[in-house]
Amino acid sequence: NRYVAIKHHINGSPKESDFELKSVSLSLSIEAGSNDVIVKNIYVSIDPYQINRMKDHSPSQTEKVAVSALGILPGKAIDAYGVGRIVESGNPEFEKGDLVVGFIGWEEYSLVRGGATDCALRKIDTSELPLSNHVGILGLGGLTAYGGFFDVCKPKKGETLFVSAASGSVGSIVGQLAKLFGCYVVGCAGTKEKVDVLKDKLGFDAAFNYKEEPDLKSALKRYFPDGIDMYFDNVGGEMLAAAVDNMNFFGRIAVCGVISEYTDAEKRRGPSMINVVYKRLTIQGFLSVEYMHQFADYISIASDYLRNGKIHALEDISHGIESIPSAFVGLFNGDNIGKKMVQIADM
Ligand code: NDP
Repeated sequence: NRYVAIKHHINGSPKESDFELKSVSLSLSIEAGSNDVIVKNIYVSIDPYQINRMKDHSPSQTEKVAVSALGILPGKAIDAYGVGRIVESGNPEFEKGDLVVGFIGWEEYSLVRGGATDCALRKIDTSELPLSNHVGILGLGGLTAYGGFFDVCKPKKGETLFVSAASGSVGSIVGQLAKLFGCYVVGCAGTKEKVDVLKDKLGFDAAFNYKEEPDLKSALKRYFPDGIDMYFDNVGGEMLAAAVDNMNFFGRIAVCGVISEYTDAEKRRGPSMINVVYKRLTIQGFLSVEYMHQFADYISIASDYLRNGKIHALEDISHGIESIPSAFVGLFNGDNIGKKMVQIADM
């Protein structure tokens, strides 16, 4: 069973040479009644937050590390969301051949241990929508967009929304949900190609390449002459500061992630807090896991949108387990357009 591991902790920008492909033997037989299953992994998710788990978690480093999940250890397998097929089951809820989604890993096969009732996998029906959709738009990225937009931004029809990393997994869904809801939506991204996708394919009202803007505050002023009501923040740093300066009174900022700060602690410059005070802004962080109870509803709504062509699934798929390190590194260089995932095996 081949798997991708980090060679050592990573405290700055990740490089492909920080990773290695390892191999370990895996018995394909499991005890009946153990509730365990073995999954042959098909698509695995590549997510920015994993970098925070790869940092050095020793006490001297704790101040620099902000993690919401268990640390990743050098040489060890890395758990990740994804879809696969059950190849062995000791769990009565799953049969050999079932397609499932949940936490598997950056590896060819995953042994998923079952609790008494649940082994954190869910069976999926792929009769109508592509399997890869379950990793992206029908997966945790979609739930993040849904929870963050509706629960944290608390939109009203006609309001203005700004979203950063707008052509990425979460951002592309936030913008589309906001358009369907009736908001004026502007996104930013780091290349012309991405900006064109946002405007021409995803129906954003406007989009711009933030790398070509010498002054982010005045760029936002141009796109939002009447101010921003909601900012869905995927990047933090300078963009957050520029957004705060352009927010309307009682605006809401959903802090989904701060990718600009994950690899560069110097970027941790805060916004003008006096503007937060005067404008009575709400700035709220959140995690997708808080919205698990809405996952089934979200999947049903998003599946309908997909079937009716109201929403597009932007996906960026690399092939082969050996491409996981470059796929991951690429997130921090802005290489991906849409949900980044790696296909490890055929269906
Ligand atoms: P994306 O698909 O958006 O991929 C990352 C993108 O971020 C890149 O393509 C790049 O696009 C942009 N980026 C990379 N480095 C920088 C930088 N230094 N400054 C500005 N932009 C940068 O990833 P996701 O949609 O999966 O994640 C987006 C954000 O949401 C992340 O911060 C992530 O950690 C967070 N997240 C939070 C969750 C939660 O539960 N709160 C759940 C899932 C994700 P560009 O061309 O625009 O620069």
